[in-house]
Amino acid sequence: MASGSSSSGNADPKRQRVLPVPKGVADVETFTPDSSIASDVIPSVNFGDRAGDRQPDMILLHYTGMPDVEGAIAQLCTAGTEVSAHYIVLEDGRIVQCVPESKRAWHAGVSAWAGEEDINSCSIGVEIVNRGHDWGYPDFPLRQIAAVIALCRGIMLRRNVVSHRVLGHSDVAPGRKKDPGEKFPWHSLANSGVGHWVQPAPIVRGDALQLGAISDAVSNMQAAFRRYGYNIPTNGKFDGPTMEVVTAFQRHFRPERVDGIADRSTMATLYALLESLPPDAATAIVAKAN
Ligand SMILES: [Zn+2]
Repeated sequence: MASGSSSSGNADPKRQRVLPVPKGVADVETFTPDSSIASDVIPSVNFGDRAGDRQPDMILLHYTGMPDVEGAIAQLCTAGTEVSAHYIVLEDGRIVQCVPESKRAWHAGVSAWAGEEDINSCSIGVEIVNRGHDWGYPDFPLRQIAAVIALCRGIMLRRNVVSHRVLGHSDVAPGRKKDPGEKFPWHSLANSGVGHWVQPAPIVRGDALQLGAISDAVSNMQAAFRRYGYNIPTNGKFDGPTMEVVTAFQRHFRPERVDGIADRSTMATLYALLESLPPDAATAIVAKAN
């Protein structure tokens, strides 16, 4: 090439067009990205301090759920929306950081995991650009998933995040949220050491618990979900909140059929996950939940 200027990231007009900086953001103080693979910083005004100096030991994955990337970035960065995330991963694999990891971004909302309710204080939030269930829910492009994997691996190393604390928004807010959803390739992440995963047990005919059931078997089922970390009642009644947790579990761990019915495959997958937790993990979860 003649001048070399077109090889510079900042001078490439195509790149400038893809990454619109919302009005008002230019005045916010910028910062050095925590991740070496974050290519851009668009500082958000929506963040605070982590409660009690809590260090993040969880990664929470989301989809943006908006029709376009411009709207999503504006939503996560501008004043008045009350939402943000530490990172946004674009469809082309570019990673934008919006909030320093040391700060508390506002991505989880009302949520709970393993007995803890201030999920924003204990987690790092990653928004993955995808229109979501309300706008056609496209597949996640490979290069976007590769970027999510690389980003998460870095965070896990720097922050000592264990695999079973890499979760989806729907895991911690099953009654309100579907993201990142059943199309999100958790198995691919696990193949690269990100997230806890077992091969889902095959779907077979047989006993299943579903909405309306009341029995000791329901209590045992609920206790197993709670042991893994889900915030589920343990009242022996297969009620609405119980069905929401079963649905959230299926979206993440048994995506072939997401119907909220605790069938044999769902339960076998859950028990296999529980068995493959590190020995200290289950104890720690129970201790926190009590
Ligand atoms: Zn979300």
